[in-house]
Amino acid sequence: MNLELSEEQEAVRRLAEDFVAREVTPHAVAWDRAEEVDRGIVKKLGAVGFLGLTIPEEYGGSGGDHLSYCLVTEELGRGDSSVRGIVSVSLGLVAKTLAAWGDERQKRAWLPRLASGEALGCFGLTEPGTGSDAGNLATRAVRDGDDYVIDGSKMFITNGTWADVVLLFARTGGPGHRGVSAFLVPTDTPGLTRRPVHGKLGLRGQATAELVLEGVRVPASALLGPEGKGFSVAMSALAKGRMSVAAGCVGIAQAALDAAVRYAGEREQFGKSIASYQLVQEMISDIAVDVDAARLLTWRVADLIDRGQDFATAASKAKLYASEAAVRAANNALQVFGGYGYIDEYPVGKLLRDARVMTLYEGTSQIQKLIIGRALTGVSAF
Ligand code: FAD
Repeated sequence: MNLELSEEQEAVRRLAEDFVAREVTPHAVAWDRAEEVDRGIVKKLGAVGFLGLTIPEEYGGSGGDHLSYCLVTEELGRGDSSVRGIVSVSLGLVAKTLAAWGDERQKRAWLPRLASGEALGCFGLTEPGTGSDAGNLATRAVRDGDDYVIDGSKMFITNGTWADVVLLFARTGGPGHRGVSAFLVPTDTPGLTRRPVHGKLGLRGQATAELVLEGVRVPASALLGPEGKGFSVAMSALAKGRMSVAAGCVGIAQAALDAAVRYAGEREQFGKSIASYQLVQEMISDIAVDVDAARLLTWRVADLIDRGQDFATAASKAKLYASEAAVRAANNALQVFGGYGYIDEYPVGKLLRDARVMTLYEGTSQIQKLIIGRALTGVSAF
């Protein structure tokens, strides 16, 4: 694995850094307080090419390798995890999955719109009764002539109230994951209603929703991949998605490090800069090691994907480590800030609130450990 960025990758990283400094960081606190990111950000993310990374140019994407995608995701996560999540879901979970599993007609219909930000995607797997145990989902799609009729509900859907299309997982067959199929459902289809989820600890600017489906009729051509292969579609999306979450976590940890170093240099107690105290330096060095370790694990996933190698277990390791590291890093940074870390005039409280969900979604830390354990022992513990 080459740890030196190419000129092209460095240019993409700098583009993302400038974009975040101009379009995200100045608004992040206000969006957090208002519990809504300015929706105009979607078009801006599309215009700069960040919603089309790794998608082939013939489908309106901006191409590029997975390390470039990680670099952009890290910078977005450094600025605001709510904005990072918009990209990780619409591009990472929906567009990239469509590019991998879609037929020509589906790719032509959706990819140019998703890549430009004209349309936004969301990923509907979790239900009120099934989270970690997604293979047991209860939403049903029943064949009716040339159509399917879908009934059920989805919980915690990122981009849910904003999205134009949902990559929806529903049961077309018997129990267990073999009975699940994937569908592309436009969100303006009659019978689909969306309710915002409020009161989140973090990611407050993000449009999280519950989706309710009552007699939602879609043509059979809405199936993504073969009938009964929906769980494979979902798992392939999440394996790559975990790299994106990990990269966002590196961004959070890096922001925590930057803030802690800056503050420690400015704040004086007992007549000296707090940066001069060994116990403060210990917290800063703990954050720095977490940043490096999380970044290296994440880049390894990108490298494996770009070289066409197996990456799923490496993605679980990166996601597990980076998410736990982001929480530790933000918590350490808050400690460096003392009481000022606890009020929202300073950035570290928001970093901790935003980091907290990373150990929960796209597979909890416990589920990542079970995936890694299964790969090592050959025995599934779940
Ligand atoms: P549960 O599965 O009920 O887990 C509860 C606890 O039990 C956890 O600690 C878990 O690790 C543990 N546990 C469960 N099973 C086992 C086991 N076998 N062994 C050991 N421990 C176990 N979902 C989507 O589909 N699309 C989205 O866009 C999306 N966005 C989200 C955004 C936010 C802000 C949040 C909070 C969630 C989002 N989710 C989304 C849902 C998320 O993926 C789930 O919350 C997550 O998978 C966990 O499921 P659960 O909440 O039902 O917890």
